[in-house]
Amino acid sequence: MLLLDTLHEGLADLEARGLTRRRRIADTPCAARMTVDGEAIVGFASNDYLGLAAHPRLSEALAEGARLYGAGSGGSHLLGGHSRAHARLEEELAAFAGGFVDAPRALTFSTGYMSNLATVTALAGRGAALFSDALNHASLIDGARLARADVHIYPHADTEALAAMLDASDAATKVIVTDAVFSMDGDIAPLPRLVELAERHGTWLVVDDAHGFGVLGPQGRGALAQAALRSPHLVYLCTFGKAAGVAGAGVVAHETVIEWLLQRARPYIFTTAAPPAVAHAVSASLALISGEEGQTRRQHLAGLIARTREILHETPWRAIDSPTAVQPLVVGSNEDTLALAAHLGEQGLWVPAIRPPTVPAGTSRLRISLSAGHGFDDLDRLQAALVRTGAFA
Ligand SMILES: *Cc1c(COP(=O)(O)O)cnc(C)c1O
Repeated sequence: MLLLDTLHEGLADLEARGLTRRRRIADTPCAARMTVDGEAIVGFASNDYLGLAAHPRLSEALAEGARLYGAGSGGSHLLGGHSRAHARLEEELAAFAGGFVDAPRALTFSTGYMSNLATVTALAGRGAALFSDALNHASLIDGARLARADVHIYPHADTEALAAMLDASDAATKVIVTDAVFSMDGDIAPLPRLVELAERHGTWLVVDDAHGFGVLGPQGRGALAQAALRSPHLVYLCTFGKAAGVAGAGVVAHETVIEWLLQRARPYIFTTAAPPAVAHAVSASLALISGEEGQTRRQHLAGLIARTREILHETPWRAIDSPTAVQPLVVGSNEDTLALAAHLGEQGLWVPAIRPPTVPAGTSRLRISLSAGHGFDDLDRLQAALVRTGAFA
């Protein structure tokens, strides 16, 4: 059939360019050491930065939530699906992460992808000008497309270029969007300067802290808390499937912004609310993150990050200067990156190869993702494996 032939050709083209993606099957819970496709491996692929995904207290909270609220929410938030568990999580999240604004309020979503579509489309409608960092996450890019706003992409972290673009724009509504921690580079956005620009130009500043929430700042309150920023221009996005170890996402902002999203954001309104049990488990995760155990895990993670940076700087490839749990090693071509990942794989280490369109062409890389569940012995194994692949001259 002609239609299938067209897809076959497309797939063959991906294969020829080294862009085919393959899923691996995890046989055990997500953890630093796990079984994947039947093999015991050390995993550097997850975003489970605090090692909470398989924490017994969160599994128990999920089960308790199911006992209390059942399996499904039964409907959208505005039509019967909004449970006590969701309402409590909103309050806890606003108190935990809303220190950057007076009268903080929170709204929760079943995924970060949807929270980002919702926020960008609700704040930047047709005719608005949207200013987006070149390395922003796909969900922010897709939100901009769906919003039908005029999109201005500024070079990564280049606040001079952004300032010039803001000066040149006469749009009535302007929105700056940025990752807080860039997901494939691990570096942190110039947030203080972005807040200054947002205030000077009267724009919203939407900060996606998917990789900083739970990890950065006092008690893991995130990138805005780490930088001690406060501004009514800020809109904060956080996700619960990464450091928080569960699933879902939240938006935190001034209560009026949240009310606007609730009334207007189609990706909030026209979808079934996440199971209340998930919200119940995220509440338990916030308690872990903000407590002593979270603190201990963040300290251990900081040690792992420092050691990994030492190891990567000794390789012939380009280690991106990242202070976070995302530690990229830029190899260059798709083929070389896949070969290196395969070598590590043979030695029982799962380090994913990241290729376009996730990263720019020619910057394919290994993305080493650290978790508080790793031990320093896991890093010794990583270093030894890199040496064996001939990485060290
Ligand atoms: C993972 C991620 C998202 C999407 O969150 P999900 O909950 O996985 O849908 C959004 N933004 C960034 C920067 C991310 O890394």
